[in-house]
Amino acid sequence: MNPYTIFSDIVAGRAPASKVYEDDDVLAFMDIRPWTPGHLLVIPKVAAASLAELDPEIGGKLFQVGQRIALALRQSEVACDGVNFFLADGIAAGQEVFHVHLHVIPRTSGDGFGLRGRPVNAHRADLDYLASSVRRVLAEGDR
Ligand code: 5GP
Repeated sequence: MNPYTIFSDIVAGRAPASKVYEDDDVLAFMDIRPWTPGHLLVIPKVAAASLAELDPEIGGKLFQVGQRIALALRQSEVACDGVNFFLADGIAAGQEVFHVHLHVIPRTSGDGFGLRGRPVNAHRADLDYLASSVRRVLAEGDR
């Protein structure tokens, strides 16, 4: 997949962005089409299209920066009451820009924004079956 997206241009300074944070590995800037006021994106500077391509250490930094920003948003003029994190990995998950990005979404009561799907009541046997399958793959990754 072509690793270059508009986010690479933003990292390189070739496209404009309203930046809120930058270090050697991570950049955070306001989303151009915010879901709620103050919605921003935290991205790795490296052009990783998916989580599979992203160094887990950098992935951890995305969360750390998102965590700091979540606290800052509450104290800023955004003055939200809560925050959602959202990350779309893959077309089926709704990913549109193929450069990993963590959405940080400020929330206030009654803002009308919703991320939840329709939950179903699961059977314990199904949960156990899928849990054992994921555990097996994780264990294979550790070998
Ligand atoms: P996705 O659906 O891939 O999780 O989200 C992509 C996000 O990137 C969208 O929320 C969209 O508004 C944002 N976005 C797309 N192009 C630009 C851009 O050029 N600048 C900024 N700041 N955000 C962008």
